[in-house]
Amino acid sequence: MTYKPDTLCVHHAPRMQADHSYGAIAIPIYQTASYAHPGVGQSTGYDYVRESNPTRRELEQTVNALENAFDTVATSSGMAALSIALELLETKTHVICSRDLYGGSVRLFEHVGAARRGMRFSYVHTENPEEVLQHIAPDTGALYIETPSNPMMHVTDLRRMKEIADAHGLLLIVDNTFLTPYYQNPIPLGADMVVHSGTKFLGGHNDTAAGFLSVADEELAKKMRHLYKTIGPCLSPFDSFLLIRGIKTLAIRMDKQQENALKLAKWLKHHENVKEVYYVGLPEHPGHEINKSQSRGFGSMISFRTKTADIAKRALERIRIVSYAESLGGVESLMTYPMLQTHADLSPQIREEIGITDTLLRLSVGIENAEDLMEDLEQALR
Ligand code: PLP
Repeated sequence: MTYKPDTLCVHHAPRMQADHSYGAIAIPIYQTASYAHPGVGQSTGYDYVRESNPTRRELEQTVNALENAFDTVATSSGMAALSIALELLETKTHVICSRDLYGGSVRLFEHVGAARRGMRFSYVHTENPEEVLQHIAPDTGALYIETPSNPMMHVTDLRRMKEIADAHGLLLIVDNTFLTPYYQNPIPLGADMVVHSGTKFLGGHNDTAAGFLSVADEELAKKMRHLYKTIGPCLSPFDSFLLIRGIKTLAIRMDKQQENALKLAKWLKHHENVKEVYYVGLPEHPGHEINKSQSRGFGSMISFRTKTADIAKRALERIRIVSYAESLGGVESLMTYPMLQTHADLSPQIREEIGITDTLLRLSVGIENAEDLMEDLEQALR
């Protein structure tokens, strides 16, 4: 029987033996670094925590089932997961990336990938497949896509990216943090790898750092597991427990957050101090139809442009329910100033070109009452 995503969030993997002994509904936290061997040359399947742990394994199986992946590892942060993905690529590979990516991803690519592994990264408008084709070179080895992108909410056609990847022998990697596997599954659409910041919607409570890397086939899985046990970016048993607990409510959280986001986006659109609103759920968003064709939802990330920089800065200082804080996806609404926070490491020129200016704010909509959120934003923007 194939379960739907909201069921998989709660009941994902067959229950483990240790669980059966007490009938515990919640997975135990196996706070152990080592495991006794039943005999020489024998193993319970668990030898050492860096490689595997039953609590973490349960979490990995959950995300793996949700992503329809071949294998998934749980890491100590999204950046740790992305670092393994980078290690899986050949040195000196050219990677074509979405134009506006999370700033930390660009930092990793440029300061580690480019500087130490001789890689090249081109940042292009992947929402326009022609631009992707124009940048393919003999050394191109992968496409790296964020859809919707952070923070400008551009939507990339994943099926078209798969066609391009197949025609040119490229790996397709997707950062699925914004929509999560509850709304979007890049692997059945052809992606080879999916990266997540689990710190965001999957954890869901703005209290735990985590990451995931899912791969589509056995060969990548073997290499990924080898890197995982060698480098050691593993998620602790306790944090694995918190992520399992978070994912159980992923579906209801995301649906409520999306409902709130749509109300807020419509309201912001008509606000006298707001110039532009970028929310994929609005039918007039240029990526609305493509997003609809490849996902089950639009998420709850909104970026918007105020009429002046002063209005943006004042709003950040005045918000009361919404916090002026980095990160996204949790039950609490958060607002960021991408120019000074998430994308501060990009050069001013690139920021300007992408549209990350002093009037751009990014709002992660939480599960609070939508009218209270509107009232808060109204007094902050007034
Ligand atoms: N990918 C996206 C889209 C993000 O927004 C972030 C963090 O903000 C990351 C990856 C990195 O994740 P983490 O902060 O868990 O290392």
